Amino acid sequence: MSEVDVVVVGAGLSGLAAARKLVAAGKRVVVLEARDRVGGRTMGGTLSNGVDVELGGQWIGESQDVAKALIDDLGLELHDTYDTGDSLLYADGQAQRFDDASWGLPPESAAEVNRLFGQLEALATTVSVDSPWNTPGAEELDQQTLDAWLVANTDDETARRYFRVLVPAVFSAESAELSLLHFLFYVRSGTSLGVLITTTGGAQEQRVVGGTHRISERMADDLGDRVRLNTVVRTISQDDAGVTVDYEGGSLTAQQVVVAIPPTLAGRIRYLPALPVSRDAVTQQMPAGSVIKFQVGYETPFWRKDGLNGLVQSFDHAFSVVLDNSPADASCGVLVGFIEGTFARKAEQMNEDERRSLVVDALVDFFGQKAADPFDVLQQDWNAEEFTRGCYGGRLGAGAWTAYGHALAAPVGRIHWAGAETSTVWNGYMDGAIRSGYRVADEILSRQS
Ligand SMILES: Cc1cc2nc3c(=O)[nH]c(=O)nc-3n(C[C@H](O)[C@H](O)[C@H](O)COP(=O)(O)OP(=O)(O)OC[C@H]3O[C@@H](n4cnc5c(N)ncnc54)[C@H](O)[C@@H]3O)c2cc1C
Repeated sequence: MSEVDVVVVGAGLSGLAAARKLVAAGKRVVVLEARDRVGGRTMGGTLSNGVDVELGGQWIGESQDVAKALIDDLGLELHDTYDTGDSLLYADGQAQRFDDASWGLPPESAAEVNRLFGQLEALATTVSVDSPWNTPGAEELDQQTLDAWLVANTDDETARRYFRVLVPAVFSAESAELSLLHFLFYVRSGTSLGVLITTTGGAQEQRVVGGTHRISERMADDLGDRVRLNTVVRTISQDDAGVTVDYEGGSLTAQQVVVAIPPTLAGRIRYLPALPVSRDAVTQQMPAGSVIKFQVGYETPFWRKDGLNGLVQSFDHAFSVVLDNSPADASCGVLVGFIEGTFARKAEQMNEDERRSLVVDALVDFFGQKAADPFDVLQQDWNAEEFTRGCYGGRLGAGAWTAYGHALAAPVGRIHWAGAETSTVWNGYMDGAIRSGYRVADEILSRQS
């Protein structure tokens, strides 16, 4: 007789959502979490004036209905992201304002960017999100990187630069690090490229009052002592009788286990018997992106008075993406921004003061001297986190989807795989993580009914 029905490894959104659904169905569940907190890639922070900000995943968007339903169910509320005024494109030492699909680019490059958008959107509609490897022409789409596709499809160097800034903003990875098939799958899974990069009507539309980490905290509160913190899982063994999960300091037996951690970390657990080659390959072939996130506090959202919405993309700076993240009551101004991909790898060599200077200098270039004196700068380097090792999530490079994609979410005996990376809808996002938790719960309930 097993001690519990299901052990869940990881108390991020996916693991907690799985546990919640399993418990609601009457299952005996324990969630083992390595950190001293729940929430994983969502994490709260507090500016020195007491205002809550998000140091990990933050925006809830259009069509993320599963996340919205859970937020509502947990008694949490959403508020709109500020989105009034012009955006800025900073290139070659100049800030260009725009409020349309010119993207702040010269007309011929804007036309080229929009043509490429159209081509990519059309290609994305051909992708099978449930099994990307079965997409018509999958091998050809998977053999090339997104960057190789850009080089082959436009001679406009400015348009290429634009995409080379936009892609890390969405993936925390460079266009050369993604297969074209992975890019198209991700776009399709999140509805469209237009939705992914848009605030109102898109993926950045809303925020959770008090921060997204509260979603996990409320789920964990409901689960009570079923959630065990500071418990690092090291080995998962399975046989005809059940599964044994060994963690630092003990072990638990169950009928099924849910591994609800990013693929690259799933590869650091030992499995007995060893995983099939294709599933192990997934853990090797799906590295996380690189990102350092910043929340910069000002006395007021002064940029709004200049008719700016706070959104900046820069061709010139390592701190290349910025948005308005002020609280709903605008009691202070907050700019959120990211150092991503190659720039993040370089910025990790700096100390926090050097990174702070880099960020504030960039904000002065974007918004002028008023940006020179923030009252607080919070920073979170996700690559340095032992139990995340990079964000926003895992990506697949050239050839990996067609070779190993079929093993990404398929159970291996008594082991079920959850996590944002395994979702066919809103892959890589909080909504996708929650959906993956519900999917594994359904898989298990159909076996244990
Ligand atoms: C900077 C940043 C910005 C983002 N922005 C957004 C956004 O705006 N909107 C959006 O929807 N998404 C965003 N995301 C992505 C979103 O946060 C994630 O997709 C989601 O939180 C992933 O949840 P998960 O449960 O799949 O994984 P995780 O949150 O990674 O949870 C896995 C858990 O497993 C634990 N763990 C790991 N190894 C072990 C082990 N051996 N034993 C026990 N426990 C272990 C970890 O500590 C962690 O708590 C962002 C992420 C980051 C980092």
